[in-house]
Amino acid sequence: MGKTFMPTYKTDEELKALQLEGLKWTVNHVWNGSDFYRERLKAAGVTPDDIKSLDDIRRLPMVTAYDLRDQYPFPLRSVPFEKLVRIHASSGTTGKRKVMAYTAKDIADWRTMFARVYEMAGCDELDRVQIAVGYGLWTAGVGFQAGVEEFGAMAIPIGPGNLDMQVEFLMDMETTVFCCTASMALLLAEQVEQRGILDKIKLRKVILGSERHSPAMDQRIAELLNIPVEEIYDIPGMTELYGPGTGLDCKYHTGIHYWADYYILEVLDPDTLEPMPDGEVGEMVVTTLRKEGAPLLRYRTRDLTRVIPGTCECGSVLPRHDKLEGRSDDMFIFRAVNIYPGQIEHVLVNTPGVSSEYNVILDRREGKDFMTIMVERDPDGDASKDKETSKTIEKRVKAEIMCSGDVEIVDYGSLPRSERKSKRVYDNRGQ
Ligand code: ZN
Repeated sequence: MGKTFMPTYKTDEELKALQLEGLKWTVNHVWNGSDFYRERLKAAGVTPDDIKSLDDIRRLPMVTAYDLRDQYPFPLRSVPFEKLVRIHASSGTTGKRKVMAYTAKDIADWRTMFARVYEMAGCDELDRVQIAVGYGLWTAGVGFQAGVEEFGAMAIPIGPGNLDMQVEFLMDMETTVFCCTASMALLLAEQVEQRGILDKIKLRKVILGSERHSPAMDQRIAELLNIPVEEIYDIPGMTELYGPGTGLDCKYHTGIHYWADYYILEVLDPDTLEPMPDGEVGEMVVTTLRKEGAPLLRYRTRDLTRVIPGTCECGSVLPRHDKLEGRSDDMFIFRAVNIYPGQIEHVLVNTPGVSSEYNVILDRREGKDFMTIMVERDPDGDASKDKETSKTIEKRVKAEIMCSGDVEIVDYGSLPRSERKSKRVYDNRGQ
């Protein structure tokens, strides 16, 4: 493998210098190119000349999804229209879609970033990469494909669905890398098993995007496809930040290596907007360093993650963040501790005998806050063990979330279920 797409910097100091240069460039670029950003910066009392160190990022105003919708159809546009060559949009379910515009350089940068994904996953030029994700307005398909071509492997751009065709090409093209969602990977793996064609395929890696999936699911996919589970990779991505391809976990799977030479990732307390200490969960806020068309200054993603301290076993200079753990809008504060339902869920999925259906009830009695976690017993769970199970959960909540609460085990099916996203937290504390 001759060409590399890995970053040119070698040390943390070199990365910081690179980031500072990119930050200065970006603030200057949006100041000159965007009325929206210039007004925001003025309101925050900041001019491009004020950016002298990386810490000065904290002086910059923040951007939210509301700003993007407000400025529909060309939010954050920071170049004249003649410089724009493409738009992509997120599939937004409510209100206006989030549309992002790209310059030719943005598209080229994205392609390079995406080529790095395949390098991180240990691909080579002989790999044949079957792309089973959506094409069109959505950023996925075209990103996956451009990355393959830049990297120098071969793209097989099938798009989503159509299992028969997927299987046919998997065999005939001797596909070695499959890119799809986790549920698609499972469907494909089951097809391979049902049709008994394992000896007719050459698959060696799977890259999964855009959907949460459990280790058990990865294990099943790997078993059915007869590939090592280490060869299943996770790709993050959001339209606001180019699209997918802005990071990947490596074969050690200890978090997502993210492309810190293209964007700065901050993890902030969603309530105070102060930085969280390394290793603690908070809201992911991103600032782009090279993006021209629609740059992001401290964009609040609402996604929760944490920075993983230390260097990865793979030796990469690229820093890591954890898999995304739900949304910051769901956070609540209990006895001065920020708690996310995802953290409670994490304790529950790792406790035998209970289901993942739960409610958190917050009360205030005599000026003191109390938390009760009600969780449903497994459908075939043993009620005589409830007391033991609730003690186990209480201990683990205390150890892992640093707070005390009572746990009540209730019958399966007894907690309310709402049609869409279940409401988990009932706060009766008043204000
Ligand atoms: Zn690594």
